[in-house]
Order: sequence, then structure tokens, then C-alpha cells
Amino acid sequence: MNDLYGIFIQMENFMSERSLSQPVQFVSGIGPELAGLLARLGLVTVEDMLWNLPRDVLDLTHVSRVEDLQADEVQTVRGQVVDIDGRRLSAGRTLTTCLLDCDGAYLQASWFNQAWVRNRLVPGGTYLFSGKPKRRSGRWEMSHPRMQYLEEDDQAAHGGVLPRYGLTEGLKMHTIRRMMRTVVENYVDLLLERLPESFRSHFHLCTLPEAMRQVHLPQSMEEYAAARQRLIFEDLLEFEIGLALRKQRWQQKGQAPVLEATAKIDSRIRRRFPFKFTSGQNQAIGQVVQDLQRDIPMHRLLQADVGAGKTVIAIYAMLVAAAHGYQSVLMAPTEVLANQHWQTLNELLFDSQLNIQLLTSALTSAQRRDALARIRKGEIQLIVGTQAVIQQDVEFHKLGVAVIDEQHKFGVEQRAVFTSSKDSPHVLVMTATPIPRSLCMTMFGDLDITFIHDKPPGRQPVVTSRIRGRGAQQKAWQFITKQLQSGRQAYVVCPRIEVTDQEVAAPFEMPISAEAVYEQLSGNELRPFRVELLHGQMDREQKQQAMERFRNQETDVLVSTTVIEVGVDVPNATLMAIMQAERFGLSQLHQLRGRIGRGNYQGYCFLFSEADSEEALHRLGTLEQTNDGFKVAEADFELRGPGDVLGTRQHGAMPLRVANLVRDVEILEQARGAAFKLVESGRLHDLEYQALSQQVQTRFGRLLSLTPGG
Ligand code: ADP
Ligand code: MG
Repeated sequence: MNDLYGIFIQMENFMSERSLSQPVQFVSGIGPELAGLLARLGLVTVEDMLWNLPRDVLDLTHVSRVEDLQADEVQTVRGQVVDIDGRRLSAGRTLTTCLLDCDGAYLQASWFNQAWVRNRLVPGGTYLFSGKPKRRSGRWEMSHPRMQYLEEDDQAAHGGVLPRYGLTEGLKMHTIRRMMRTVVENYVDLLLERLPESFRSHFHLCTLPEAMRQVHLPQSMEEYAAARQRLIFEDLLEFEIGLALRKQRWQQKGQAPVLEATAKIDSRIRRRFPFKFTSGQNQAIGQVVQDLQRDIPMHRLLQADVGAGKTVIAIYAMLVAAAHGYQSVLMAPTEVLANQHWQTLNELLFDSQLNIQLLTSALTSAQRRDALARIRKGEIQLIVGTQAVIQQDVEFHKLGVAVIDEQHKFGVEQRAVFTSSKDSPHVLVMTATPIPRSLCMTMFGDLDITFIHDKPPGRQPVVTSRIRGRGAQQKAWQFITKQLQSGRQAYVVCPRIEVTDQEVAAPFEMPISAEAVYEQLSGNELRPFRVELLHGQMDREQKQQAMERFRNQETDVLVSTTVIEVGVDVPNATLMAIMQAERFGLSQLHQLRGRIGRGNYQGYCFLFSEADSEEALHRLGTLEQTNDGFKVAEADFELRGPGDVLGTRQHGAMPLRVANLVRDVEILEQARGAAFKLVESGRLHDLEYQALSQQVQTRFGRLLSLTPGG
């Protein structure tokens, strides 16, 4: 009885006491049933509701009548889609049109090469079309208008700015709008303002409660946009402060060895290379050298497109360490690549006193024990390997420099191994997939960044073409045959090793599996040549030998899976055919294509694909049009978001509340600037920033290991 009474009192409190953590169920007008629906959207508390920003807004304040349209000014009309038409034009182009009935006056909209629009348009649906109209043969036309579909709930409204929220089955737009209004009106004042007045006025920001009210109940588009920006700014500001603090922490953590690249050391290192460094390489080396001569550990990200020659920078830094009697380690994501780096080092250093050790899981336990002992005693100066180099039992004598190659294949944790090791070495992280700007500022936001924008001389852009249909396939193989005859080599890349039942290729489509492609090519298309198979399930010895034979030009064609994706460097290989190319991500295709065009011969990449989905066409088209990895990365990022660009776990879920890294790059840049200033100037410790600073700890303390001991 008493218990029940207690619960009742608690519920009373819940219901009467206004708090942000109050479950939405107890907000007047919501109740358990609606709360159930909201929970499906992840909205449990009042605070969750407030941060559930509109996914967009309908601006009904400026809807024009067709009769009143002005040519060439952005305007919005509202009407019903009455006729949709799609046509193929010459040269594979398409034209999609639709007619919009706006209260009896008509407007025609058209789209070039966006055939997917046709499926997007709902016949009879009511839409807002915004764009610059033109008058042609007595009728108003808009090309590529922005379209907004009006749900049933929206159609009643004529005027105002209507927020639109994400929905779930059973939840109507007008219902969630009503609930949001209640929550905003009754609770928004409880939101704690964390930005001091001086900061807000500097950046022209209104208060948090004001912004929150305006984003949910906007009076105008301008008000909505400004309020939204304000919320996104704070979201990103807090995250960037976290990154700035993290950077400060590792900078203050330990003393790194001072490794000066004197003129003598510099010229001794350069002499070893059979070529002159590019100006991009020289600049990168300049920055690395600056870092190495300070006792603050270097923590630098080197970004460059595939084939730009990043390995040179790694080796340079390693040799500076060796010159000062320090050890260095180079970690690569695959054995194939670790092997290759080991070979490169051996070739460059064949007549030096330095000892180089390859450390992969290929070593027998006796070999490994022996290697580890020599590393511990300092008899080995240069260590190259896979993740085997960061196992617990690897103890360095004096580690000065650690390089992580193809960082995007590793997780953040692996990078942390070096930063948190007792040695405090200088850490250089290299990535082959150029990283979109916004990911650089977040994922890698605590690193200093160096770019190499040029490539070694003589490189020509790889000619890339999409191959579709039997005729085109035959021509491609004929072309490849000719090139092979003149001494070049080819990679044929397949999405799978074996086929599963569901994955039988369409008629005349090339098979999916490396095994089947190997069979087919060695029996038919490429019969006169020496074709070899390489995939991840072969044993280590076989893989290495296959790679070796290809490198030594004992084989002409390597049929493989994506094991060759990263880093492999065989300059005589100038041809690549990728089977079912639509199955690969954009950045991955670019990375694969980076295997060719590394020498002085023209490279050719053939993207075999029978797919005709919008996304596939867009992706493969992007590759045909550009060789610039930075452009490819941005396009990939826009298509698929941060999740797939890096192709690994490390991006995880970026813990941002309202910001979107694809959309909000500019705000991010501003917030990052402000955040780093606050931290570096020490002003973050001022009393007026206490609330902000605490919020950073609460939101990101664990993620960024900011908490002491973390
Ligand atoms: P990535 O940046 O993709 O890791 P690599 O370091 O593997 O590129 O270099 C690609 C190729 O270019 C290698 O064969 C390398 O020897 C060569 N290379 C690198 N720098 C130069 C240069 N300055 N001049 C000529 N060739 C170079
Ligand atoms: Mg490389």
C-alpha cells in the first residue's frame, strides 16, 4: 500500500515538475500511446524532443501564382503533378518532364539526365516547385526545380513556414507538430545556455532557448535558417573543443626525441633514392622535419592521392630517426603491402649498416621470438610489418618514429597504440583515400595535416571507361590483348572469390567470382598469356609467390579480389579490368585504379558493369570523368555519407546531435576555428566557460579519452 502510494507521489512529481529529463509520456496531450510511437523515433524525454529538429520546412510564405511569375528569379509555385514523361535523347542522354497544374494554370518542369526523377514523382501528388522559370512558346517552364512533396497534412496549410519532422508508422505529421509545439512552448526555457554573452555576440548567436523556439516554430525562412545554424554551430563547437583538448593532451604528455635533420643527414637520405623528390614531397618533408626536431611528439596526417609517393616521406622520417640512433616502425594494413615496403627498404638500403626486420604473422614462433629479442636490444633499427608490430609483446629499445600506412584501413585504436606508448614516438599517419574536408576536421581533427597535391613526373591520368554489353566487352579484351602483347601487364579485379547461389551473373555478363573469371579468361579471352589467380583465401606462401611472379613479369595477368586494393606498386602493370564494378564503392574503385598508371606508360581502366541504376551510373560516370582522388572522395561522401568513404569501422557513429558532416562543412570550419582558439588561448578555463567545458566532458569525455586515466 505504502509502496503504491510512493510510486503515485513520484508520478505526481514527474507530472508536475518541469524538467528536461521528464519522459514525454507525462507531457500534457501526449500520454502512453503517443509516447510509444515517439520512442520508436528514439524520443523518450522532453530534451530528446527538443533536439528532434525538423528534417526540413515548407515555406508557404512566398508561393506565387503562375500568372504572376517573373522570368529568371527564384520563385515557388504549388500544384498537382498531372503528366509525367521520360524520353531518351541521342548519345544516351535522357529528358524527363512533368506538367504541374497550379489552380488551372500550367507549368512544365524538366530534368536532363536525371531519369530517376520519374520514379520519385507521385502522379496526382501536390508539390512545391522552386526554381527560376522561363517562358517558352507561351508556357512557363522550370528546369531542375527543387521539389517538395506536400503530405496530406500539409495540403490544408496556405501560408507560414511549416516544420516537417521524421515520422513513423501510425504517427501523423499534424500530430507530431502539435506535440512539438506543446513541448517547445512549455519547456524550451529550461534549456541551459552554455555560451557566454561575449562569445554569442561575437558570433552573432541568439540564446539556445530562442534558437530552439525559432527552429521549431519559425516565423520566416530567415529565422529558421539562422536558428538552425546556431544549433549546429554549438553541436560542432563542443565536439571540436573535445578534439582540441585531446590534441593538447597528447602534446603535453611525453617528451619525444629531438631528431634534427641536419644538412648532412638530409643529403645522405636523398642520395639513396633513384629519383628527385617532387615539390609536394619536399614540402611534406619540410613539415615533418619541423615536427621531428621538437620534443613534442609529431602527430601528423599525410594526405595524398594514390601514387603520389607517400612512401618516400615515411622512409625519410624513419631514416632521420636511424641517423640519431633511434628505431622506427612502419605499419601496413596487409601482408602484401608490408612485404612490398620491406623490399623497398632493402633495395634502398642494401649497402647500409642498418638492420631491417619484417614482422608479420608469417614468422614462425621461433623466428618471432628471435626478432623480438633483437628489437628489444636495439639491434634492429627499422621494423616493417602488419598489425603484428603492435602486439603486446613487441618492446622497442628506443622508438623514435612510428608510421602508419593506409590509416583508413585501421581503427582509431591502433593509432592510439603509438600515441599512448611509453616511448612517445613521433607519429606519422598516411592515408591513401583522400579524406573529405569535413572528415578531416572531425575524424582526424586532432592531427596536423599535410597534403601532397602533385605526382611524380610523367604520370598520365588513367583513361577510364565503362564497358557495357557484349560488343564493348569484346573490344575491351582485344585492346587489353594488344597491350599485353606489347609487354604491359594487367589486373583483373573481381568482387568475390567464389560464387554463391544467388549471385549468378546475367547472360554474357562476366562472372563475379575470381575463380570463374580466372577459368574463363585463361581458357578464352586471354588464352595466350600467363594468367594467375590471387585472393585472400590462398595461403600466405602462395600469395607472396603470385605477387612476386607478377612483379618480376613472369606472369602477365593477375586475376584477383580486392587484396591488391591498397598500396601494391608494379609500374609495368598499366591495365585494369574491374568485373561488376557497380558492386564496389567509389573510393574503393579509385583506390583500385591507383594500382595502374604508376610508371611512364599510359594506364587504362575498364569498368565492366551491366547495372543501370541511378547510383551506379553516377558513380561509374564520376570515375570516367575525373582522376582526382579528392574529387572522388567528396563525391563518394555526398553519395553515401561518412560511413562508407573510409570503408572501416573507425568513423563509427559520429556522435553529433544535429550537425550533418556532408551538409554543414562551412559551419564546421567556423566552429573548429572558434574551438581551437578557446582551448589554445586557455580561455576555456575561465569561469564563464565552465558550463560549456562541462558539457564537452559529458558528451565526449569518454569517446575522446579526455577523462583522466582514459
Ligand atoms: P603512394 O602515395 O600511393 O603510397 P608510392 O609511395 O607507392 O605511392 O609511390 C608510387 C610510385 O612512385 C613508386 O613506384 C615510387 O617509387 C614512385 N615515386 C615516388 N616518388 C617519386 C618521385 N619523386 N619521382 C619518381 N618516382 C617516384
Ligand atoms: Mg602507399
